[in-house]
Amino acid sequence: MRAGEEISATLTPRGHELSATGVTVAYDGIDVVHDASVTLRPGDVTVLVGPNGSGKSTLLRTLARLQRARTAALAIDGTDGLALTPRQLSRRLALLTQDRPTPSGLTVRDVVEFGRYPYRGRWGGADPDGPAAVDRAMALTGVAELAERGVEHLSGGQLQRVWLAGCLAQETGVLLLDEPTNHLDLRYQIELLDLIRDLADDHGIAVGAVLHDLDQAAAVADRIVLLHQGRIIAAGLPEDVLTSERLTDAYGIRIEVGTDPLTGRLRTRAIGRHHTRSERLSTPS
Ligand code: ADP
Repeated sequence: MRAGEEISATLTPRGHELSATGVTVAYDGIDVVHDASVTLRPGDVTVLVGPNGSGKSTLLRTLARLQRARTAALAIDGTDGLALTPRQLSRRLALLTQDRPTPSGLTVRDVVEFGRYPYRGRWGGADPDGPAAVDRAMALTGVAELAERGVEHLSGGQLQRVWLAGCLAQETGVLLLDEPTNHLDLRYQIELLDLIRDLADDHGIAVGAVLHDLDQAAAVADRIVLLHQGRIIAAGLPEDVLTSERLTDAYGIRIEVGTDPLTGRLRTRAIGRHHTRSERLSTPS
């Protein structure tokens, strides 16, 4: 945050409902997502989980129209999402992709300002709300003190938060996040999950995220979508979807599910070959 400037790190409520129906996506003629349907509701966090290669990223990118689908219907607040211009879409929906390249010669503020592209004129004209939106986004993601730093000097975790700030500066009602905790240390992972929850609870944003950590998914999600081999095999409340039987089946390794005594949240435990040698390891309570 810049000295002497009062910035309230708040966003205006503006959630949209994003609904995708019958999504089938093929790479090189081979279907990798089969007839998937998912709805992201304002104020809800929906987390996609599943083993590597199960189609999570492909489905998320298809929701953002970054990936062409063989078949798909997309609706945003009931209007045809496929008929929106790219500019109209980018005022409604932002996607944090995985592993973006690090731009050189740009400051953190420059990169976050890229998030304002849907609001600028064709020739980069005025965006009166831009500076405040950029400051808010940097404050929310904890990168305000890095604003004038060159991005090539940042750690992977700092850079991840800068990209997220760019998405927040876009001020959309739908936020899609592909493995947003990548590169973050434990503190920032938890802070990011808290931020996701705040964005949904306080601002009504519809969040769709891919997460690898099942316990983090259970802690932050209103709804879980479990994918396996390109198909949604279960969707609903975390306690209904994340069952030992389903997870063991999907991940191909024994996974036990219990309740964390401290938080009351669902907790999973994958049991490897070496674990089972020890009688001390039993099913979590
Ligand atoms: P996940 O995010 O669950 O790991 P992905 O959506 O990345 O899964 O991948 C789903 C399937 O599509 C995998 O079999 C993967 O190998 C394949 N795939 C992903 N991207 C491409 C691509 N650009 N070209 C060809 N196949 C791809």
